[in-house]
Amino acid sequence: MARTDAIVLGAGIVGTAIALHLAKRGLSVALIDRRGPGEETSYGNTGIIEGNTIFPAAFPRTLAALARVALKQAPAANYHLTFLPKVAPWLLAFRHWSQPVQLVDFARTMRPLFGRAVAEHEALMGEAGAAHLMRRTGWLKLYRSDATFAATARERALAEEYGAPLRVLDVEAARALEPSLNPVFRHATYMDGSTSISDPLALTRAYAARFTALGGVIVNGDARSLHREGARWRVDAAEGAVDAAAAVVALGPWSPDVLAPLGIRLPMAVKRGYHWQFRPRGNASLARPIYDADNGYCLTPMAQGIRLTTGAEFADRDAAPTPVQFDRLMPAAEGLFPLGEKIEAKPWMGSRPCFADSRPVIGAAPGQPGLWLAFGHAHWGLTLSAITGRVIADLISKTAPVIDSAPFAAERFSR
Ligand SMILES: Cc1cc2nc3c(=O)[nH]c(=O)nc-3n(C[C@H](O)[C@H](O)[C@H](O)COP(=O)(O)OP(=O)(O)OC[C@H]3O[C@@H](n4cnc5c(N)ncnc54)[C@H](O)[C@@H]3O)c2cc1C
Repeated sequence: MARTDAIVLGAGIVGTAIALHLAKRGLSVALIDRRGPGEETSYGNTGIIEGNTIFPAAFPRTLAALARVALKQAPAANYHLTFLPKVAPWLLAFRHWSQPVQLVDFARTMRPLFGRAVAEHEALMGEAGAAHLMRRTGWLKLYRSDATFAATARERALAEEYGAPLRVLDVEAARALEPSLNPVFRHATYMDGSTSISDPLALTRAYAARFTALGGVIVNGDARSLHREGARWRVDAAEGAVDAAAAVVALGPWSPDVLAPLGIRLPMAVKRGYHWQFRPRGNASLARPIYDADNGYCLTPMAQGIRLTTGAEFADRDAAPTPVQFDRLMPAAEGLFPLGEKIEAKPWMGSRPCFADSRPVIGAAPGQPGLWLAFGHAHWGLTLSAITGRVIADLISKTAPVIDSAPFAAERFSR
């Protein structure tokens, strides 16, 4: 049996960044996954390190917007009818957390994490020899209607207040940045402080390689075998048991699979999302991620091609993929940018692990000494992974914390 200081369950970008931070502090660490590092949700995302985020995605504000979602006309969202009764309590809580006052609360509470997101990645990427994966070209949000643009006024004002400024551009200025975009939009905002990753899988792999170079061990095993042995935690892996004083659950959308048997039930849902990758047509190119605010999708240049990523689908995590959102949004996407042939035969699907208040859980597991939680990063798991790694390493090594992690405690759901 291998005895270590810490077991990290889940080698997505979150778990891998945590394992790396712990190894940097001299702990012996086993990183456990049933697949290779970064091959699940952390593979298929849009690649934006969204340090400038102010407001989260919100419940539809108007009856008309809600009706479009309900009638399955909105490109930004989809749902499985049979799943609605199961997710209804979460949706009601999400509606509560989407009120203007709660959105401002989110901005304030999350700023310590978002404000450190880019610098924390820069540091880890420098150490991991992965700096070439980061693009410092910002990201561009496009608004096709005056109403959609006007709806972001409060968010723009807050961005200024929080030192995460964005520039409002007219169509000409936006096309000066991205000449291949067709002028089908009326307004744009440019977050030049944001960065993006050209290959999210390569990033997780680079962090994993740095982790093993520091003496960390990657173990193939099923996290559901986690159990307590006296004061320690143990996982039964293919190569034998791994035992540690501390265990961190960083299993993204699969975290409940390990926590429910331990009696820990947190109100997490998943927002499923898809990507499909395309070759650009002719000489068309993109230098940065683009968000079409009226249609709720992103186009982002990746090492593999142009990646189109969708908004949220409310469905059981394990239900078969239903990528119907592409039918609704492809005319808009093709009208905006000259997309060529598809690179893959079928789209990729992943599940964003989400709490209704859009905050992750980062901290101690209630009633389980030595167990730590780091999941539920929703739309920002890539963005917040490096700072989450630092916060968990601070907590486990009892170092003065870089931020106050109280707003991210699991206990907030039992108050
Ligand atoms: C379409 C889309 C676009 C997105 N765009 C962005 C973006 O631009 N920027 C951003 O910051 N975030 C984005 N996200 C969100 C981000 O991808 C996720 O929040 C993040 O990847 C979650 O990382 P994770 O490490 O928590 O989970 P994962 O990457 O899913 O890792 C969990 C790991 O646990 C392992 N695992 C599960 N069960 C077991 C088990 N029983 N035993 C062993 N191992 C197990 C899995 O194999 C996996 O490796 C996007 C998400 C989607 C779906």
